[in-house]
Amino acid sequence: MALLDPHTINQIAAGEVVERPASVVKELVENSLDAGATRVEVAIRAAGRDLISVSDNGSGMSPEDARMALQRHATSKIRGAQDLLRVTSLGFRGEALPAIASVSKLTLTTATEDGEAYRLVVAYGKVQSEESVPARKGTVIQVEGLFENLPARLKFLKSDATETTQVVETVSRYVLAFPHVSFRLAVEAQSAIQSPGTNDHAAALAAIWGAEIVSALAEVDSTVSGVRVTGFVGPPHVNRHARTHQLVFVNRRPVRSKTLTAAIDTAYRDLTPERRYPIVMLNLDIAPSDVDVNVSPTKSEVKFNREGAVFDAVRLTIKSALQEHGMMPAIGGALAPSGSMSTSLFSRGAALVSLPGDAPPSDLFRPADETPTLGGVPAFTPVDGAGEGNRMPFRELLDDLRILGQVQNTFIVVSTRRGLALVDQHVAHERVLYEYLCGLKAGGPADVQRLLSPETVQFDKRVAVALAEHLDLLREAGFDLEAFGTGAYLVRGVPAGLKGRGYEALLNDIVDQIVESDGKAKVESVRERVLTTASCRMAVKAGDRLEIPEMERLIEDLARTENPYMCPHGRPITLTLSWEELMRRFKRL
Ligand code: ADP
Ligand code: MG
Repeated sequence: MALLDPHTINQIAAGEVVERPASVVKELVENSLDAGATRVEVAIRAAGRDLISVSDNGSGMSPEDARMALQRHATSKIRGAQDLLRVTSLGFRGEALPAIASVSKLTLTTATEDGEAYRLVVAYGKVQSEESVPARKGTVIQVEGLFENLPARLKFLKSDATETTQVVETVSRYVLAFPHVSFRLAVEAQSAIQSPGTNDHAAALAAIWGAEIVSALAEVDSTVSGVRVTGFVGPPHVNRHARTHQLVFVNRRPVRSKTLTAAIDTAYRDLTPERRYPIVMLNLDIAPSDVDVNVSPTKSEVKFNREGAVFDAVRLTIKSALQEHGMMPAIGGALAPSGSMSTSLFSRGAALVSLPGDAPPSDLFRPADETPTLGGVPAFTPVDGAGEGNRMPFRELLDDLRILGQVQNTFIVVSTRRGLALVDQHVAHERVLYEYLCGLKAGGPADVQRLLSPETVQFDKRVAVALAEHLDLLREAGFDLEAFGTGAYLVRGVPAGLKGRGYEALLNDIVDQIVESDGKAKVESVRERVLTTASCRMAVKAGDRLEIPEMERLIEDLARTENPYMCPHGRPITLTLSWEELMRRFKRL
């Protein structure tokens, strides 16, 4: 038996830490960030085989530190095992530089001040030269001839295109996690990424995914059970066929985590078609003692102490963002922007909801006498010219739309450009009516249809008393009531949308809710429930037969809603089987 010499140990370590050009880039960029750099420039030639160069304006190293850094397990970032519990730097294992130097020709030039720099050249583990050169503060590391001493490893590399893509992805992640750092990536001397480093998260994201995608995202920032989650969340209908646009960071370290992936999937369940992946970019701030990053040499896997808390934090952050940004249009004022966030509403480019200065939502709709009605309930048509297009975020649902029919008198079968969709007619109509009612509310008094002759309703004493205080809520839902003796009320008007339908059941439901929540619930939530109930009651039912024009009308109205995927109760409205999926299932792809 013999102790391995340091060079062999470094080569073994290199196998774990340095798999491919992208891993070299990762380690070097992390070092630059750990050194406090605000500018990091990366360049590769021949997919990193010929050259990988990373330069930064960070702290730099003294000649002694630089020499030390190339020894295995030399690190300035932790002193002992106890520090592992509170690692805040990206590196800490002290094995990257020696590992890289053992499989390449590495030139390190570093200066702690503008002026004189120290340059050290190490080729495949052996020091070649040391000299002093003029340079600015910071560090430049050039890696040439990667793996040339390990032909087997060289053979393992994929095509130039693949390796280059990996490098681009690697740099992208740090651009997103460190928006205050200005990054540049040059591939074959061509600029591939350039980020402003202005600490503007959206700008950093735009540098990677393009401004168009970013304009569709909602920014989030919430803290759930001690975990702060910040980043960007996309609407369910903007999705990809793989998880390419789902990036998660823990304390700004890009990570892979089944827990976090599952949390994302759960949040979007029933909203996004199967095997489609919405866009998510999240950073979790977790106490370093609550997360173990020392699971693998590349540190991309993490273990959480409080797995459940982390899961919930991600799931709830996404869920509430989806609700806040159009999943569940809030009543009244919330339709107008109420904070920095609501302007995005999944769309900075095209407003999905009314912004101040626009016509109030109530003007956007009018009962359309000439259009087919749904079981006696009118469909609603936007006023002509009122932002056709920019008010139809889900317009794509309508592309090449063909109603194929109705099944079980419950589901509408639709062919769209994206695939085959099944729409639950009741929840779909409910969504349409709900937003209609919300719109009315925001625009002023609800649309009340006066009864030709008022009718009397009788409530028991307790209900009658509670109701007396909340007639305004009823009015918002379109009921005009007036006290008329003990326990009796005169009904003077009913919601316009009800038309021929009996209003008693709806009135009773709403009254029950008002009474039940009296004193406890906030007015807002009672209002919300009143409108939810009203839309549910007024909507066509499962089992109602619909004619094709009625169905067309409904789908068109649905496409105009802010969220054609989920009803106000949180039930799914539409299930889509994409053509691609269909082809795959029939083994045609
Ligand atoms: P680790 O990052 O795990 O500490 P590395 O082998 O990656 O180990 O780096 C060894 C040490 O070299 C670091 O701890 C740091 O002190 C120093 N170092 C490496 N790169 C830089 C850089 N770009 N700027 C300043 N110091 C650096
Ligand atoms: Mg490092």
